[in-house]
Amino acid sequence: SGWWTHVEPAPRDPILGVTENFLKDSHPSKMNVGVGAYRNNEGKPVVLECVRKAEAKIAGSDLMEYLPMGGNVKFNDLSVQLAYGENAECLESKRVASIQALSGTGACRLLAEFQKRFQPDSQILIPVPTWANHHNIWKDAHVKAQTYRYYDPKTKGLDFSGLVEDIKNAPSGSFVLLHACAHNPTGVDPTAEQWREISAVMKKKEHFAFFDMAYQGFASGDCEKDAQAIRIFMEDGHQIGCAQSFAKNMGLYGQRIGCLSIITDDQTQAATVKTQLQLICRPMYSNPPVHGALIVQTILSNPELKQLWLQEVKGMADRIISMRHALRENLEKAGSQLSWQHITNQIGMFCYSGMTPEQVDRLTNEYHVYMTRNGRISMAGVTTKNVEYLANAIHEVTK
Ligand code: PLP
Repeated sequence: SGWWTHVEPAPRDPILGVTENFLKDSHPSKMNVGVGAYRNNEGKPVVLECVRKAEAKIAGSDLMEYLPMGGNVKFNDLSVQLAYGENAECLESKRVASIQALSGTGACRLLAEFQKRFQPDSQILIPVPTWANHHNIWKDAHVKAQTYRYYDPKTKGLDFSGLVEDIKNAPSGSFVLLHACAHNPTGVDPTAEQWREISAVMKKKEHFAFFDMAYQGFASGDCEKDAQAIRIFMEDGHQIGCAQSFAKNMGLYGQRIGCLSIITDDQTQAATVKTQLQLICRPMYSNPPVHGALIVQTILSNPELKQLWLQEVKGMADRIISMRHALRENLEKAGSQLSWQHITNQIGMFCYSGMTPEQVDRLTNEYHVYMTRNGRISMAGVTTKNVEYLANAIHEVTK
């Protein structure tokens, strides 16, 4: 005995705490706008029709064998086509190393490990704020981290000059973590023009651009449009890295399906880089799971299913966008004198409302609305039935 007496409990995850408290509350009007998973207008989780159809096609196939260490190769190819564009030069010249990953988190973690092994003196530049797990991922990989300015609380928009300044001042050859679209938690993305400027500054500084793309299609409803930042960096000749997740845009959360890709000089280098990525996976989990990759492969390789998927992603994005408008209109209708324009300016799953932790506490304690204390509202939890209640509650605590 005595082996583990010194082990202290790990800090509680703030999001899980929100859900626990929500479940304990028996008030009929309670709302959970904490969790970042899509819900339909009934407040229910959704399995996409294209996923149901793909599963029907897969049923009975021989899917129990091990995948290769790098995962399902057809899945990887289809995944990078989605990110980089079907006719991308880097794909035609086969200079992209791609590997199946345990969703977006796993893809980020592999990249962080690869960075530590092969650019051991480099650091990672992380936006403020960001998805909290980004900090843990690079910390666990023992990569030195710095932050760069991103969000301006005054405008509830992008701190563009701060961002550019911080990226300019970082040591040359830094890795810069960029959210490809639908920035979490702020919902604030640079414009195409701003992306071009960021790309130019990073080119000059010889920084490495790493795109975390957890929401392709989920922001605007258009997968091509949501990849615009990546396409701009490619046009400018950056050799980027990209983490893709199919959790949100295909609703495959628990399947843990994603892809890490890195653009290299040529086909030989891509193959070499892939062997090293595989070597990182081998002692951790050997090879990735079969089912999610097969679902995505089936959808993306079948024109009919792909078309259905594109419609369904657009459906999810459109519902969220319409809830943004409804929330803003209801706040205005409730008589709020504050500006709520940022609700409709921001994009993707989340609205960074600008509410203070104290206002959020009142929202929870007095109105049974559950969310994280940073004021982040998951728009996926808002429906035509509860939007007016939410708006009135927000108005009451922000008067
Ligand atoms: N990156 C960002 C910015 C996210 O918001 C998320 C999920 O919330 C992820 C990555 C990873 O999600 P998953 O590992 O489920 O794909």
